[in-house]
This record gives sequence, C-alpha cells and structure tokens, in this order.
Amino acid sequence: MTALSNKTLELVKSSMAEFVSYWEENASETPVDQLTDPITGRPELRNAETAMEMLYNYIEERGPMLCGRDFKLLAVEQPFAVPLDEARPELIYIGRFDKVFKYQGRIYIGEHKTTTSYKKDGPFRFDFVESFSPNSQVDGYLYAAHLTYGDAVKGCWIDAALVHASVHDGFRFIPIDRHLEQLTGWVWETRYWISQIEANASAVDALRSERPNIPYMAAFPKNTTSCTNYGGCPYLDMCKMWSNPEHFEEPDGFAIQKWEPFDELELAKAKRVLGIDRKVKRRDVLYDNTRVQSFRVCPRAFYYRHIRHFQPLGDRRALLFGGAWHRAMDRVWTELSGGVK
Ligand code: SF4
Repeated sequence: MTALSNKTLELVKSSMAEFVSYWEENASETPVDQLTDPITGRPELRNAETAMEMLYNYIEERGPMLCGRDFKLLAVEQPFAVPLDEARPELIYIGRFDKVFKYQGRIYIGEHKTTTSYKKDGPFRFDFVESFSPNSQVDGYLYAAHLTYGDAVKGCWIDAALVHASVHDGFRFIPIDRHLEQLTGWVWETRYWISQIEANASAVDALRSERPNIPYMAAFPKNTTSCTNYGGCPYLDMCKMWSNPEHFEEPDGFAIQKWEPFDELELAKAKRVLGIDRKVKRRDVLYDNTRVQSFRVCPRAFYYRHIRHFQPLGDRRALLFGGAWHRAMDRVWTELSGGVK
C-alpha cells in the first residue's frame, strides 16, 4: 500500500463503513470478516479485508477522474421506468442506473460489477470483458438512457472490480456503445420474451383449472444446458425429482418470497423516476432485467422463482459482496465528485 493522504484514509473508512453496514443488513448468517469457507476450509476471497484493500486502490486510481473539472455526477442509484409497447401503456421496463455522469461533455451510465474472473496481466478474463456486448441488461439500460437523456448519451461504462486473494488493484472501465437500431432491436426481443412468459403463465393457469392431475407440467420447459452454470441451479433437486412441480409445496431450504421489482427499486419512495411522465403504479405490468433474464436462462427456473416464488434460503456471498461494494461505491463517487449536481 502506498502512502495515502488523510482525505483518502477518511474516505476508505467511511466507504468501508457503508460496505459493512450493507453486509450486516443483508446477511443472515455470514460474517463479513470470515476468512475461510466453514464447509470446504478453502480461503474465502470475499471478505472485509479484501474489500478494504480494494477500496484503498480504487480511490487512488479513480480519484483523479472523479475529482476532475470535466467530471460531473448527475445521479446515484437512479430508478428509471420506460414504456415497451405503445399499444400496452401499462407494460413498463424498470431498473436502476448505478450512476449517471457527465464526462468531457458526454453523458454516461456507470454500472459497477465485481468478479473473480482473473487473468494474469489482464486483469480480467476475456470472456468476462466480452460478456457485456451484446448484453440484455446493458442494452436495456442504454435504451432507457437514450429515452431519458437523448443524443447526449455516449454509452455505458462497466466499472469492473476484480476480487482476488492477492491482486487488489484490478479495476477497469469497459465502455459499451450501441446504435439506436440495436436498441430498437432490444425492445422487440424484450417484448418477445415477455410474450413467451405471459403465454407460459397462461398455460399454467389453464392446467390448474382444466388438467390438475396431468403427470407433467406442459409449460415453462426446462433448459437443461443451464443446470450447472454459476455454481449450479438451486432448483436442481426439484427438477430431478418432480415431473409436475404443481403437485408439490416448497421443499426444505426454500421460502416463499415474491420478487417485487416495484419494492426492490423503491419506486414508491423515489423522488424522481426517469423515463416516464406519470407515476409508476404497483398494478402496472412491470418487468426488470432480473425477471426477463431468468426466463431466458431457464423457463422452469423462472417458474420456480417467479410463479411459485421459491427463494433459496441462506446467504450468497457473491451477491452480498457485490451489493456491499455498490453501497461503498455510492459513497466514494459522491465524495470524490463533490456530490450530485
Ligand atoms: S430449473 Fe432449469 S436450470 Fe434449474 S435444474 Fe431445472 S432445468 Fe436445470
């Protein structure tokens, strides 16, 4: 660690406090300072010590840009809501920009991402860097940004941060720009996926009323190429055992917990929601990237999570660390830039 100014040290302390408070608010049983996995005994990368080292280096690296005269922070954790279909005004795509900023005269969306996808001299693996283009979340956010800020929007910068046992200065902006035609294509694709979700949901309703004893569920087909991705699907045992999941209640290890994007984005409390000239209501038909992406990955997993509302119990460390890093970034960006203007 190099010699640090008092200002940097103060900011490390305050952003670290934000990191820890997020962790403590959201973890049910996983301490932030745990250094090894209690089951495997392997070193646990995502912990408070790693976060502290990363914050020192991040503040030193990003400071010159965020403090610069040509940088202006426009919004932090800004909710947006944009229409998807003129014929269905109640159909709305919602999300939240991590940051909106003006840099050298152009407007950008900033999205923080943490990853363990390390490559020597990278610091990120090629597949991680390439995963943002094309990418339905980035495309959707750029579509919303263009509707909100018009031609002043230059693109989205992924603010990537490496989580690693010994490399704590792996940061990189990954700039993504999309043509307007590509964003219009995203709207068509998103409407297509929503129509598939709605058709499958209607099929489940019809099965419940007309064929409740059918031995298999003729809706929300399984995508078995996704079962082992990202550490394994939490619904694997159900898919192994159940032919028609409609006949079963949630198993041990799961709770019924509805994913409510309206509440997740705190739309009721938001002082301002970009992109729409009316209040977003709970009864609107709301889709966010999480729901659409879940269906695309596996329709049956979507059914478990968003039709039956099965939520796996227990903490997921990668999500905790990512969420805590976001909270710390809000403090770092706000302090270094002098606040939202
Ligand atoms: S829900 Fe989908 S991804 Fe998960 S185990 Fe079943 S088929 Fe595989």
